[in-house]
Amino acid sequence: MDWFEETLHPGFHSRLGIDRVLHETKTDHQHLIIFDNEEFGRVLALDGVVQTTERDEFIYHEMLAHTPILAHGRARNVLIVGGGDGGMLEEVLKHDSVETAVQVEIDDTVVELAKQHLRMICGDAYEDPRTELVIADGVEYVNETDRRFDIIIVDSTDPIGPGEVLFGQRFYGGCKQCLADGGILVTQNGVPFVQGEELSNTMQIFKGLFAEAACYRAGVPAYIGGDMTFGWGSDTPGYADVELDTLSARFNAAGLKTDYYTPKVHKGAFALPPFIARLMDKAPD
Ligand code: SAM
Repeated sequence: MDWFEETLHPGFHSRLGIDRVLHETKTDHQHLIIFDNEEFGRVLALDGVVQTTERDEFIYHEMLAHTPILAHGRARNVLIVGGGDGGMLEEVLKHDSVETAVQVEIDDTVVELAKQHLRMICGDAYEDPRTELVIADGVEYVNETDRRFDIIIVDSTDPIGPGEVLFGQRFYGGCKQCLADGGILVTQNGVPFVQGEELSNTMQIFKGLFAEAACYRAGVPAYIGGDMTFGWGSDTPGYADVELDTLSARFNAAGLKTDYYTPKVHKGAFALPPFIARLMDKAPD
């Protein structure tokens, strides 16, 4: 059997058996492979790093989409940065209250191949009339647009290659600038057991930018090394601690069918083990 070996961490690699390669190419921005694996189903990897898999995508996408949207309670305009596989877009559009979902993705090849090979992840999200797809660098978009968003979801690659700029001051500052009053920014911040610096750096920037900087977590099997963390920034304190009854009422009203997210999981996700809480306070090296 051929194997895909993830090369994200210097001293810690994982391998996934390749049953069938659907597509492999060098895009204008990165190496891309889509393949089938016995345990994870269909897998998308970019530059040697697993991005999403058919079997566990629901955990990551539900937690990054529903947590801020239900904490906010009246989100109409959502911006997704990255997320070319379309799974985040599909999850966001499950909220009938969302009127527009703008997705800014740097690599049109990821989107085109997702439509061909990852329909089990993106569904018909790219054909939804509420979707506006912009092919551009997320950093430039957030610093140039005069649109304002209730929720911004950063569904980026890791801070290597084209995704590196999506972890810096200029990008996060641009995000803050295009949040509507009462808006919430959420970000993927890797697996802190092996990528602690990524969380520390983002949290230091968020503390300087937002009245409330927090993080929450979920275990996503394909992102090896334990729980992953999601960054949270908002100028409206309290959104990271909305009452369970309020979340439950919003969840029921939205009529969502989920496999991971529930209002109780939402509340629990903000409880941090001390080793993660300490990373939030750690100054960058
Ligand atoms: N869920 C995945 C994870 O946590 O690793 C991320 C999935 S999604 C495929 C990441 C997307 O971010 C990719 O399609 C990539 O092209 C896009 N991306 C990387 N850098 C970008 C940038 N500067 N602006 C916009 N999109 C970017």
